Amino acid sequence: MVETLVRLVCPGCSKDWQESPSDLPGAGADFDCPNCGKSRRLSEFAHTERDLETLKQF
Ligand SMILES: [Zn+2]
Repeated sequence: MVETLVRLVCPGCSKDWQESPSDLPGAGADFDCPNCGKSRRLSEFAHTERDLETLKQF
């Protein structure tokens, strides 16, 4: 089974990780970085345009 993953990068601490979009809130929702705990819009964590598009599909 191939699962789509979104690559996320925290703008605050530069943590770089991947997450399944089904485990994430919508692109416009607030999201807390699991590393530094800063809350930002999830769309700000998207690594590339493509990751952002993937987020918006869920
Ligand atoms: Zn962070």
